[in-house]
Amino acid sequence: MRIATRRGRSVLISPDTTFLIDIAEASHGRFGPGARSVYEAWSDFVEWARHASIDFAEGGTPLNLTELDPPSPEPRQTFAIGLNYRDHADESGLDYPSSPPTFTKFAGSFAGPIGELALPAATVDWEAELVVVIGRRAERVTAAWAWSYVAGLTAGQDFSERGLQLAGPAPQFSLGKSYPGFAPQGPWLVTPDEFADPEDLPIECRVNGEVMQRSSTKQLIFSVPDLVEHLSAVLPLLPGDVIFTGTPAGVGGTRKPPRFLKEGDVVETTIGGIGDLRQVCIDGPGKGEQQVTP
Ligand code: ZN
Repeated sequence: MRIATRRGRSVLISPDTTFLIDIAEASHGRFGPGARSVYEAWSDFVEWARHASIDFAEGGTPLNLTELDPPSPEPRQTFAIGLNYRDHADESGLDYPSSPPTFTKFAGSFAGPIGELALPAATVDWEAELVVVIGRRAERVTAAWAWSYVAGLTAGQDFSERGLQLAGPAPQFSLGKSYPGFAPQGPWLVTPDEFADPEDLPIECRVNGEVMQRSSTKQLIFSVPDLVEHLSAVLPLLPGDVIFTGTPAGVGGTRKPPRFLKEGDVVETTIGGIGDLRQVCIDGPGKGEQQVTP
């Protein structure tokens, strides 16, 4: 099953991904209209969706990817994990972590799957990432049970302004990765049962068609179940919470010479079995001009 958010309302995506249908309307108000309430009732919702007879061609709307928001647009908590692929830790010259290095991407950085990315500086980097959405309150959950707490998976980009991220005496991961548009996600959430193996998904990032990152989520140091175990040992994970799971090798900042995004670049992110994100880079405020205060 695939669900998405369109203009603030939760929608079901047809199996052939050509139509969508409003969940609140299709369920006669039982679920939705917003994503939060769907995740709050996730088990009941999945049960209903499995048995509901939905005629997408009759009652649905043709899918337009540019209208979509992130599958969980207003999570109460967003976690992001650093150094979670062996090859990326190697290129960064850092030891493999013994527990997942964790920061956040603030909600003001969230964006849908297709759009523009305003560059605030000349050192903005790409990071293709698998993103997890939680479907059930998870508190001290062991890895063996973790998948039953996951609503589904989506694709994400952890765009990163390396200048701000690495300036100063202590790194500013959360702030440097939270400019507007720095957390595009989508195009939809795919439930774990849709994958032959949800822990082995191809992941790729292309800039202007050139492959920059190509790996598999089986290369994660901390798998999705490991992350649920580690994070839920510290605090409860809540329905709709979002986890950016880390990026594989091939980011721009560790290339020799370093390479960063510039105006006109097209960044495409693909996760097998989920879909694609596409951002076109434009010059943002602060880059080459003063921001005007009204
Ligand atoms: Zn990242």
